[in-house]
Amino acid sequence: MFEKVLIANRGEIALRIHRACREMGISTVAVHSAADSDAMHVRLADESVCIGPAPSNKSYLNMAAILTTATMTGANAIHPGVGFLSENARFAEMVEEHGLVFIGPEPKHIAMMGDKVQAKEAAIKLGLPVVPGSDGAVTSLEEARSVGASIGYPVLVKAAAGGGGRGMKVARNADEIEDAYRMARNEAKAAFGNDEVYIEKYLTRPRHIEVQILADGQGNALHLGERDCSLQRRHQKVLEEAPSPALNAEARARIGEIARQAMLTLGYRSAGTIEFLYEDGNFYFIEMNTRLQVEHPITEMITGIDLVREQIRIAAGHPLTIRQEDVTFTGHAVECRINAEHPETFVPSPGKILDYHPPGGLGVRVDSAIYGGYRVPPHYDSLIAKLVVHGQTRNECLMRLRRCLEEMVIDGIETTLPLHRRLVEDLSFINGNYDIHWLEKWMAAHR
Ligand code: ADP
Repeated sequence: MFEKVLIANRGEIALRIHRACREMGISTVAVHSAADSDAMHVRLADESVCIGPAPSNKSYLNMAAILTTATMTGANAIHPGVGFLSENARFAEMVEEHGLVFIGPEPKHIAMMGDKVQAKEAAIKLGLPVVPGSDGAVTSLEEARSVGASIGYPVLVKAAAGGGGRGMKVARNADEIEDAYRMARNEAKAAFGNDEVYIEKYLTRPRHIEVQILADGQGNALHLGERDCSLQRRHQKVLEEAPSPALNAEARARIGEIARQAMLTLGYRSAGTIEFLYEDGNFYFIEMNTRLQVEHPITEMITGIDLVREQIRIAAGHPLTIRQEDVTFTGHAVECRINAEHPETFVPSPGKILDYHPPGGLGVRVDSAIYGGYRVPPHYDSLIAKLVVHGQTRNECLMRLRRCLEEMVIDGIETTLPLHRRLVEDLSFINGNYDIHWLEKWMAAHR
């Protein structure tokens, strides 16, 4: 097993990784920007090194500084966390070139799934059902028009390099295709430096259902059930639950097995998530994330499996010891993403936290790196806490969640806590009756 792991991330996820290492007897190296000197992951890690100024491209994305730090501190492996360099195939490769272990998949699989056009081609070969759409990239407006005409409107123009919901534009009819095509390309160029796009049928009322997989690259793969991430704002997840209220045991086993087999065929290693849209009983692959996901704790709550620990074990060369038959799903879990944002306008609200009181009790987990007196810096993602609640049944879970949201205090800055408090009172949510468009419509109606 590794003696020392460098955590190439910040915030709650850096702390999450530190916790797994600690419990495994592995010492940790935190890297941080000048804006994060007082961060919790820096305080708790065994060693910490400042790797650059506040902007991410000078610090958390600074591969040379991170690799130098890893070498100088004698770390054996690097965990990239979520976001930042976690899906950067070149970084994974450089980690290996430096004689270190990348805690994640092989660089070739990161590269394959990072390009959505390639990912979709791979998905088809691996036997995953996909959303009907263009055959690969669409390179001209004429082609976009003919794809639109043949698959039928509405369609979605998507960036091959897309992520975080950016570079995606809907065309409701043939008149809108030109604008959608140009805007998606421009946005993709600006956000990712790559304007390649492809086109998919725009599903009008699907749920977002993703399957967690775990594989060791040594002939063993598991699926750990699904997460329902349909509650979204601007294609970004707000609240997630596991299991999905929309799936029965048969559908769960079916899509889980398809995902598991695909990972075995691919020879995939580490944790990963295969995202699907689900409509009228059919699953459609949209993308694969070759990393840990923000919402991984709800899967941990219903399976009892520590995903970060498994990632670390697999990276150290250990085969999976859990078999599919051993995976059991117990109860229900929900995660609320609490952002430092105004709950109605979603304008970021960095600043000093005057008072912080996390809820507690049976089945309650708060993943957060904030504390009273902590100053949320303005430079990074606004996620500051994840409230994760488990119950024996979905109803018990929701009752507990409501109680936790009442108890939780974050004062001094605006947060999205009030949004979650209102959401958990809504009957459609309580009944599990929602699709990917529901939350935005609900917010518009409840201003
Ligand atoms: P990103 O990598 O930017 O997150 P995804 O492909 O994962 O992009 O899609 C993000 C979200 O966009 C999905 O969860 C869903 O809400 C919406 N979406 C993506 N593809 C489609 C589609 N074909 N039809 C309808 N909605 C879609």
